[in-house]
Amino acid sequence: MSQQTDMTELHWLFDMLQHIDVGLVVINKNYEVELWNGFMENHSGVSSTNARNRSLFDIFPSINASWLQQKLDTVLALRTPIYVSWEQRPYLFPFKSYRSVTSISESMFQNVVIRPINNANGTVDHLCLVVYDVTDVAVNKAALSAANRKLDQMSKTDGLTELNNRSSLDKAIKLTFDAYAVGNSGPHTLVIADIDHFKKVNDNYGHPAGDVVLQDMAKILSGGSRRGDFVGRYGGEEFCVLLLNTNKEGAFTYCEKIRKQVEENTFKTNKGDLNITVSLGCCELGKQHSSIGEWVESADKALYQAKEGGRNRTVIAE
Ligand code: GH3
Ligand code: MG
Ligand code: MG
Repeated sequence: MSQQTDMTELHWLFDMLQHIDVGLVVINKNYEVELWNGFMENHSGVSSTNARNRSLFDIFPSINASWLQQKLDTVLALRTPIYVSWEQRPYLFPFKSYRSVTSISESMFQNVVIRPINNANGTVDHLCLVVYDVTDVAVNKAALSAANRKLDQMSKTDGLTELNNRSSLDKAIKLTFDAYAVGNSGPHTLVIADIDHFKKVNDNYGHPAGDVVLQDMAKILSGGSRRGDFVGRYGGEEFCVLLLNTNKEGAFTYCEKIRKQVEENTFKTNKGDLNITVSLGCCELGKQHSSIGEWVESADKALYQAKEGGRNRTVIAE
């Protein structure tokens, strides 16, 4: 009767191992399969009958054999389990993911435990590989880091114009100033551009039209700059462009190009077309600037002179 119960329980156990949502493989010292459960059958397409007595490396030629062999031999020799995380190696067995709706991964991510199977006398002739499908975890983690990257980018970007925001501008200006101070870079020129009579745009055409002008202005500034230049919105209708490895003559050329482009551009808003102008002040970083504030202030003064001088012009700080 008790033997009958044992047999029933054994049958149950087998049934569960067969249908559990975890891969189970038992191999011998020659890496030949002796047990292959339903999970392995379903995902590999290789039936248990076909897998049995075949080498794991024969069934999956794409497995990095030398790497896995070394792991298996270690477990055999030390008789202690080894854990292979998906973060170390996305998967051991090349299975398709059935959760690829997310399109992040076509493959099933896996955690794999390789454990020794002890004989009654304590020796080890067999290994068991336990394969967990952790695609959900991996995909969630990937989505989380994508969200973090996005947040990180958003914290550096001005929402309206998608230019660098004030705080990233301040950082870039500081880095540039510090590099120049220790004497291993330059020349660098800071440009401040301010739209002329922008208040009138808002007053006459409305705030949304003003926003469109700011966005188009941002495009003109970015379009005119080179790779490595740092374009940002300093606030309101004021923009900053950090022209690296550019002296004041080079900066003047850039400013005039921008100024003319703005003057000639037709800004299309929902309240009709409009024309605007911009004033620019620039200052090349020099030894006379003992602080970042002094450098920025010089560029700001030049901008003020451009405004005083009648607007729609560029002034270089002397
Ligand atoms: P000036 O030629 O002397 O520069 O005159 P201005 O009218 O451009 O200068 P002022 O500094 O007096 O006005 C800036 C205006 O910019 C005030 C504000 O209404 C507008 N402004 C600031 N930020 C935004 C924004 O995000 N969107 C819009 N539409 N307007 C803004
Ligand atoms: Mg203005
Ligand atoms: Mg202003």
